[in-house]
Amino acid sequence: MVSKCANPACSASFRYLHAGRLFELETDVRHPDALDSPLQTIEYFWLCEDCARTLEVVVYRGKALVRPRTSDAPPEDFRKRRARGAG
Ligand SMILES: [Zn+2]
Repeated sequence: MVSKCANPACSASFRYLHAGRLFELETDVRHPDALDSPLQTIEYFWLCEDCARTLEVVVYRGKALVRPRTSDAPPEDFRKRRARGAG
């Protein structure tokens, strides 16, 4: 499953769940040798703490995409962190 940061430009290794941010996304992946499996598959992507501050993982046309975070809809944990004054 997840072994490193989803940011291709980052080489941080996945070690701890509490560091960084884990994304659970539905992607359209069908393996050629599993024709009867559903088209949509749950995949996990992890961003290290540094990347999670500025990036997010989204699904675009069935594929995972790392992009800059949108400021109009901050994730819940981001709001909590801001409320505590940390970060
Ligand atoms: Zn990273």
